[in-house]
Amino acid sequence: MAQDSGDTGAQTIIARCEARGLRLTEQRKVIARVLEGADDHPDVEALYNRACAIDPRISIATVYRTVKLFEESGILDRHEFGDGRARYEDSTRDHHDHLIDMQSGEVIEFLDPDIEELQDRIARKLGYALKGHRLELYGVPLTRKDRT
Ligand SMILES: [Zn+2]
Repeated sequence: MAQDSGDTGAQTIIARCEARGLRLTEQRKVIARVLEGADDHPDVEALYNRACAIDPRISIATVYRTVKLFEESGILDRHEFGDGRARYEDSTRDHHDHLIDMQSGEVIEFLDPDIEELQDRIARKLGYALKGHRLELYGVPLTRKDRT
């Protein structure tokens, strides 16, 4: 989960790996840099294609193992946006929620203060201090008729 982690966003993935004592091979460093340059939510295949463009020796198995390692180390957040494919994003990105366009598969990021506050209130009402949440909205584009 990516909540309350915006303060550590300045550190690179490679720096965070080193801080955790993870040994990074050159290939893993390429994958780390690809992840860092991603402003979307790539799955393993997309990461593999991008990493391969930099170093064609990288195999999809290496990408799988690397993202699994990064996920287990808390460096990446894993998402599943309804199509059964795991997607990844840097866990230190500022908190946001996702809306998934069910027609195009496009993922739209948003942050709504009302929703944040409501979730906090619900947790408190149930006797909990909220430490994180995940919210995914699934929708199709409105047609002109829907809007009126
Ligand atoms: Zn996101």
